[in-house]
Amino acid sequence: MQTDLIEDIKVSLDQTLGQLRGPAVVDVLKVQQAIIRAVHQFMFERGLVQLMPVMLSPITDPLNHGVVDAAISYAGGRWSLTKSMIFHKQLALLNPELESLYIVSPNVRLEFADRAFTGRHLFEFTQVDFEFWDKDGAFVRAFMEDLLNYVFWAVNRDLPETVAKYRPEGLPAFGPLEVFRTQELEAQYGPDYEHLKSKEAAAPFWLLNHRREFYDKEDPANPGTYLNYDLIWPEGFGEGLSGAERENEYHQILKRMDETGASKEAFTHYLEVARQQLLPLSAGAGFGVERMARYICRIKDINDVTPFCRRPGMPALF
Ligand code: AMP
Ligand code: MG
Repeated sequence: MQTDLIEDIKVSLDQTLGQLRGPAVVDVLKVQQAIIRAVHQFMFERGLVQLMPVMLSPITDPLNHGVVDAAISYAGGRWSLTKSMIFHKQLALLNPELESLYIVSPNVRLEFADRAFTGRHLFEFTQVDFEFWDKDGAFVRAFMEDLLNYVFWAVNRDLPETVAKYRPEGLPAFGPLEVFRTQELEAQYGPDYEHLKSKEAAAPFWLLNHRREFYDKEDPANPGTYLNYDLIWPEGFGEGLSGAERENEYHQILKRMDETGASKEAFTHYLEVARQQLLPLSAGAGFGVERMARYICRIKDINDVTPFCRRPGMPALF
């Protein structure tokens, strides 16, 4: 059974203050700041409009794994804390003046305690999310490659001494990243394919075709194939970004909701938008800022170097 508590772990004030004062904490904060600054610059130059975070909504990402529910009652309704802004990205694109947008938003995902020591899970983190009207996955992947190269170039420029501590060779520039399909790697490496390939890789790579949430588009020409993509960090750091072309056809959404077990009742109004054929054709992605900083600084466990520990299943004092 999945649990939301790590047994036998007490958090002391001394331990908490020790973490707050940890030397690497400031390095990671600076790297995150440099990432976000570069992201804003890059998005501005490419014409993406920034959407402010929505932190409470009647709907949020159902995710493709279980988490503890984070919801409150208010104004006669039930509001969820944002797990990701996927639906708000799609809905914002209903505005004909908007062709592309991005968001830097907190995500609250009360992960179960089995993710406490993965090194890459927090129960609260920051996601950079972006979405394009009328573009496909290939476009989004090329965009992300450009963004990655720009961000790494800017972090090298802004924080040469900090980067040198963790990567004496500096942050690399990448050409087009290698692309693999999950099924291909699974056949080669077995069930732990993502981790094994990430450990072996020297550069980030794309992993295509995961079976997951109902909002990822199924390839109409190849049923059972999903037009989604993850960017995997090398050196064993694992998943860094997920994205997809979005399902915008009503009957297909209903079919995928049945397959994934999503609640139609919870999505009544979203489904009505889809039924009226208003949902835009779009594609996008989102990446975790802490995970990018973790890769840059070669941090084993991101929870050890955040000022306020957000380890799944573990209490915190602040
Ligand atoms: P997802 O759409 O669930 O793949 O989330 C998008 C991105 O957010 C992931 O690729 C990660 O970079 C990041 N992310 C997801 N969950 C967490 C978490 N619990 N802690 C830190 N980062 C996360
Ligand atoms: Mg993902």
